[in-house]
Amino acid sequence: MSTSSEGHLTVPDCLFCRVVSGEVPATVVATTERAVAFADINPQAPLHVLVVPRDHHADVAQLAAVDPALLAEVVGLADEVAQTEANGQFRLVFNTGAEAGQSVFHVHAHVIGGTQLGWSPA
Ligand code: AMP
Ligand code: ZN
Repeated sequence: MSTSSEGHLTVPDCLFCRVVSGEVPATVVATTERAVAFADINPQAPLHVLVVPRDHHADVAQLAAVDPALLAEVVGLADEVAQTEANGQFRLVFNTGAEAGQSVFHVHAHVIGGTQLGWSPA
């Protein structure tokens, strides 16, 4: 873990740290001082946006423990995206751990909506 030129906690080989820095291109739809929202590259619904904190934290449990205000900012930005891009109704998913489907270990909220959603995660 190190500090980027913009003052964020960063991990060199982390995909989403590289999205935050602009090194990996992404379709950014909204930002705050401490969080970025961008389109998921493999959307599962009409609205499928990822919201990440600019600081690197591995998962939502670690983010909640270390910086709960930043978790609140991530949730607030998710709501803003859903208000703008859909009808304000959304599902927020934080896959936590490989068995739960987490493949990128920089915490990210999946903001999913824009249609009537089913419920069959397993
Ligand atoms: P998870 O499996 O919960 O860790 O979610 C990782 C998500 O990141 C998946 O939905 C991928 O489609 C998405 N993803 C992977 N690489 C990129 C990328 N370069 N830009 C945008 N989304 C990505
Ligand atoms: Zn990261």
